[in-house]
Amino acid sequence: MSKQCSKCSKNDAIYMRQYSGEFLCKICFVKSIEYKVKRTISKFSMIKNSDRVAVAVSGGKDSLALLNILKNTLRGIDPVLIAITVDEGIQGYRDESLEIVRNFCSKIGVENRVVSYSELFGLSMDRAMEIRPSEKISSCSICGTLRRRAIDLLSESAGAKVIATGHNLDDYVQTFLINLFAGDVERIGWTYPSPVEYGTGGLKKIKPLMEIYEKELVLYAIHTNIPFQTEECPYKDESIRSAFRAHLNNLEKIHPGIKYNAYNSILKIAKRLKEFPANTENTTPTTPNFTDKVNSQEHRKCELCNRDSSNKICSVCRTLNILTKGN
Ligand code: SF4
Ligand code: ZN
Repeated sequence: MSKQCSKCSKNDAIYMRQYSGEFLCKICFVKSIEYKVKRTISKFSMIKNSDRVAVAVSGGKDSLALLNILKNTLRGIDPVLIAITVDEGIQGYRDESLEIVRNFCSKIGVENRVVSYSELFGLSMDRAMEIRPSEKISSCSICGTLRRRAIDLLSESAGAKVIATGHNLDDYVQTFLINLFAGDVERIGWTYPSPVEYGTGGLKKIKPLMEIYEKELVLYAIHTNIPFQTEECPYKDESIRSAFRAHLNNLEKIHPGIKYNAYNSILKIAKRLKEFPANTENTTPTTPNFTDKVNSQEHRKCELCNRDSSNKICSVCRTLNILTKGN
């Protein structure tokens, strides 16, 4: 016999949330996800009244779910949403997701702007993979560096100050472990979710799905009829992230809720590290106001592209130099 929903006590449950022991029907499950995202947005003051928000939408479940939730649930805040999509130039893979995003945006009445690596950097990902001088330069590190810049440029041209991305709770915990094992303690502080302005344009990045399990986003997309791309990118590299992902999923099976506990602990660590950066002996909080700009370091400009950079040459120009000139 099927179980009843623990929330409404009316409908049959379609899902058991193992970490809380709740049984949820379709309606209560969808509502619970939307409620949690709204709570995250408000807890960390991610979006203010009438903000122009560029939502980075790739065509995968997370980003489309994010767009749907922001569109449906932020009445009262009424942000202006613009879906921004980056076309990396990966033949046979990206074309399908571009179409999914275009159709979904037109269905829910959100403007969709697309920019390609070829337009911005003069080469596609397919070309970058042909000419990279060594396999040691991984596909995803090239692509990630270019994508971050593409998203910033597209958001600026759309007049948005806030960039929302679809990173979920699993991504957040994995990123912590990657930074921890790389010895990059300072970066852990940067992951604290209160938005921080960066660069001279004063952009802010937010991750409204960071308290939602990845598997619940798949279910949300299915139960709200969001079409999404399931095919994997042909250049996806088997990074350490995949290893942590598999390990955490195994642990979660044995100890339901362990990822959520880890998330809460990481949040506390990130907050402390943001207040007391790891590279100082100082015991006085250096950034008491989290809306301050990232780093009090004076802004530097990249000598090649004139964008903000902490080095003489920014990571994008360095990557392009390596690809086109081999240095
Ligand atoms: Fe780019 Fe890697 Fe994502 Fe493919 S899997 S789109 S190469 S970041
Ligand atoms: Zn540069």
